[in-house]
Amino acid sequence: MTKRLIIITGASSGIGEATARLFSSLGYPLLLLARRLERLEALDLPNALCRKVDITDRTALLQAVAEGEAKFGPVDAIINNAGLMLLGDMTQQDPNEWDRMLDVNVKGLLNGVHAVVKGMVERRRGTIVNVSSTSGRKTYPGHVAYVGTKHAVHALSENLREEVAPHNVRVIVIAPGACDTELQTITTNDTVKAGFKEWKEEIGGVILAASEVAEAIRFAYEQPQKVCIREIVLASTNQPV
Ligand code: NDP
Repeated sequence: MTKRLIIITGASSGIGEATARLFSSLGYPLLLLARRLERLEALDLPNALCRKVDITDRTALLQAVAEGEAKFGPVDAIINNAGLMLLGDMTQQDPNEWDRMLDVNVKGLLNGVHAVVKGMVERRRGTIVNVSSTSGRKTYPGHVAYVGTKHAVHALSENLREEVAPHNVRVIVIAPGACDTELQTITTNDTVKAGFKEWKEEIGGVILAASEVAEAIRFAYEQPQKVCIREIVLASTNQPV
């Protein structure tokens, strides 16, 4: 096997699933992580180790990475993609929802960084791809806590990039706009959900496909190790905000 191991968190649906399919089609060995193991296994990809891991569980994540490396060799890239979006006005939103987003989108992502960065620095090679959002670059109504988590992803990624650049390790932020996945379905506030549907219709119903975000990840990763595409912000051309 000539291609190196890639780890994808949140590979059970949406952008993570599309990225897993794309990298698999290109012959990369994969470690796929998510809580819905049955969805990972149903992808039925060759050279893919699937593990049920909640990324907020640091011990389980480290264990899965160790297993992946034992099977396929040192990790060359982690795509820290797992995340969730629970929208709502601050006057109404249940604080437990902020906790979940901060735990997964920020602390879980840091767990992913922690699991691989030391080895990458030692090997003087590797790539950390952090999936943020246009919500990491700007703000939107009803997005306060989510925007906070994604601005944190942008900020910590840039600081991490500065830290590991002298060790020849890359940090890449992928920041998509609205994308057709399960992400919007988990918001508990029905008014916000209806608002998203209305907005989508207003812009002509055209938002990114998960495969289009996966392609941006592939493009950034497949540059030579000496080229670090620091950030890609992409959205459907119709998306004005
Ligand atoms: P999906 O809801 O389709 O996918 C989210 C993935 O994250 C699932 O595979 C889910 O797996 C996983 N996940 C959630 N919580 C955990 C957890 N605690 N531990 C492990 N895995 C977890 O949404 P997307 O594909 O859209 O989201 C992927 C990323 O893209 C997110 O970071 C999101 O913020 C970002 N993004 C999405 C946009 C969009 O419009 N869709 C726009 C901008 C950014 P499981 O439930 O099986 O654990």
